[in-house]
Amino acid sequence: MKIEKDKVVTIDYTLTDDHGTVLDSSKGHQPLAYLHGNGNLIPALEHSLEGKSVGNHIDVAIAPADAYGEWEQERVKEIPRSQFSGVEEIEVGMQFSARGNEGEHTVTVTKVSPDIITVDANHPLAGKTLHFDVTVVDVRHATDDELAHRHVHGPGGHH
Ligand code: ZN
Repeated sequence: MKIEKDKVVTIDYTLTDDHGTVLDSSKGHQPLAYLHGNGNLIPALEHSLEGKSVGNHIDVAIAPADAYGEWEQERVKEIPRSQFSGVEEIEVGMQFSARGNEGEHTVTVTKVSPDIITVDANHPLAGKTLHFDVTVVDVRHATDDELAHRHVHGPGGHH
């Protein structure tokens, strides 16, 4: 069976950046199952998997513009520490939920000084070229429920 819209596809994958650093991987976890053609993966990755079948392997590099966008300096903000009331210790790498013009989003602390906390609202993968190493493990028909929900049920899926 070939991968096409509305098929349930199970993949083993490893995601690395330009330096070969592993950013995410299904190794050591269960493979990822997703409903193809329903916006569950980055479109460029789904496009590369189109027409493939079990046992096929792809290596694909996806530019930031086709993944999580460019990294933008204007999404980095300096915030007075006084606005972090109730948080006793603020450390680099901590993540907070912030409310902005585009609704709720996650920001990551990138710098801490006595009075000013620098946070970055860019997606953690923004500005990175994503290298996906993917092996197709399974391809099957979706159930009616899965098609209605537009995601996979059962092993490797959402619920
Ligand atoms: Zn569901």
